[in-house]
Amino acid sequence: ENAQLKDIISHAKEYGFVYPSSEIYDGLQAVYDYGAYGVELKNNLKRLWWETMTRVQENIVGIDAAIFMHPTTWKASGHVDSFNDPMIDNKDSKKRYRADVLVEEHAATFERAGDIEKANSLTGALARMLEAEDLAGVRDLIINEGIKCPISGTSNWTDVRQFNLMFSTQVGSVAEDASTIYLRPETAQGIFVNFLNVQKTARMKVPFGIAQIGKAFRNEIVARQFIFRMREFEQMEMQFFVRPGTELEWYKVWAETRMNWHLALGTPAEKLRKHDHEKLAHYANAAMDIEYEFPFGFKEVEGIHSRTDFDLKSHQEFSKKKQQYFDPEVNQNYIPYVIETSIGADRLFLLTLCNAYTEEKTEEKSRTYLKLHPAIAPVKAAVLPITKKDGLPEKGKEIVELLKYDFNIIYEDAASIGKRYARQDLIGTPFCIAVDHQTLEDNTVTIRHRDTTEQERVPISELHGRIAEATSF
Ligand code: ATP
Repeated sequence: ENAQLKDIISHAKEYGFVYPSSEIYDGLQAVYDYGAYGVELKNNLKRLWWETMTRVQENIVGIDAAIFMHPTTWKASGHVDSFNDPMIDNKDSKKRYRADVLVEEHAATFERAGDIEKANSLTGALARMLEAEDLAGVRDLIINEGIKCPISGTSNWTDVRQFNLMFSTQVGSVAEDASTIYLRPETAQGIFVNFLNVQKTARMKVPFGIAQIGKAFRNEIVARQFIFRMREFEQMEMQFFVRPGTELEWYKVWAETRMNWHLALGTPAEKLRKHDHEKLAHYANAAMDIEYEFPFGFKEVEGIHSRTDFDLKSHQEFSKKKQQYFDPEVNQNYIPYVIETSIGADRLFLLTLCNAYTEEKTEEKSRTYLKLHPAIAPVKAAVLPITKKDGLPEKGKEIVELLKYDFNIIYEDAASIGKRYARQDLIGTPFCIAVDHQTLEDNTVTIRHRDTTEQERVPISELHGRIAEATSF
C-alpha cells in the first residue's frame, strides 16, 4: 500500500468514516464497517445517485429485491458455470493468488521497463488460455516466466484451479431438505427477474429503466486496497430496456450521462478516463468502464455495458415464462435489449475520500481537510458558541433547532474555537457557525468557510437559505 492510501485509511478510521469489521477480533479480511460520518457520507452518495437516476428521470423507477434468489437465477445468468477466477497457491507460503493477476502484474513490469512487445505477448497469451480454459497452460506460463511468490520468493506453485466467487448457504433446517442458495454476487438479476412485474405495475413503456441499490457478495481471492475490493459491498445498478437495434445509441447516452455525473460531483476531468473494453463478454456488444486515478493507479469505478437480450432471453429459457414486451409503436412483441450502468457505492466512497483528502502546507501552518461537495458532506454545519457562558450555548441551541430538521448539524461548545474548526475540517463540514456576544445583540453570526477559511458576518435568518443553496446538487 502506498503512502497516500495509508494516510487516507488512517484518516478514515480516526475520524469515524471506516473501520475494519469486527476489529476487536483483528478484523475480517475485505470486510469493513462505516462509522458515524462514514454512514452519512455513504447515504448521501446513495441518495444523490438514487435521485439523479430515478426521481429526475421520468422513465426510470426503482426496486428493492431480496439478496436471496431462486438458485436457478444463477444458472440462467451464467454465474454458476462461469463466475470464476483462476487461482493458484504457493506451496511454501501457502498463500493463494489469482493466476491471471500474477501474469498481468508480471507483464506490467515489462511495460514499465518499456518492453511493450513482451508485455503484450504475455497478456495476449493469457487471454487466449483463459478463453480456451487452458488452466495447465496458465500454470506453465507462470513457471516458465519464473514468476515468484512475493511472500516466499519461490516459484513452487500448485495447479491452477477455477474458483467460483459466489458465497453459498443452505435454506431449510433439515439437512436432507436443505437446498443450496447463493448470496447474490450482483444486484442486476433482481431487476431482470422483475422486469415484467415492474413494466406492468408501474405502466412503463420501452425505453425505460429500473434502478436498485443493494448489497452484493463476492468471495474475492485477492482482497486488498481497502474498500476498493470487498467481499461484502454495495452496488448501485440501473438496467435500461430498449428496442432492439437502438441499444448502441442508448449506450452512448448513458456513457456520457454517467461521466457528467462524476464531473458534477467535483471529480476533476484529468482524474477520470474512459476505458473501452476491446475484449467483450459473450453477452455484450459494447462495454466501457469509467476509471478514476486512485493512489494505486487508474482503476474501474463504474461499468456501462450493452448486454443485448442475453439475460432476459436466458431467464425466458430457464423459467419457461415469456419475457417479451409488446411495443404499440411498432406493433411488435420482442425481448428488449439492455444497457446497464453499474457502480459500487463503496468504490465511489473511496474515490470521494481520495479526491477530497487535502493536505495544505503554508509557511505559517499546515492543515488537513476533506474538500467534499457540500451536497455529500456528512455534516452540513457546526454551531459553535465561542464561550460556554453568557447565554451563548442557549443561543447556539436555538440555531440548531432552526436547522436540524433539514440538515445534519453538529453542536459543540468544548475546546478552543480553533481546535473545533480544525476538527470540522477533518470531517469535511463546509460551514462553521460561530456564535458570539454580538449575536445576542443583533442576531448575526460568523460563518467560516471550510475551503478558504474565510469568515463573514450573516444574519441568522439567512442561514437556512445559504446552507440549502450550497448543499443542493
Ligand atoms: P473488477 O474487475 O474490479 O473485479 P468487475 O468488472 O467484476 O470489477 P462488475 O461486475 O462490473 O465489476 O461490478 C460493477 C461495479 O461494482 C464495479 O465497477 C465496482 O464499482 C463494484 N464492485 C465490483 N466488485 C467489487 C468489490 N469486490 N468490492 C467493491 N466494489 C465492487
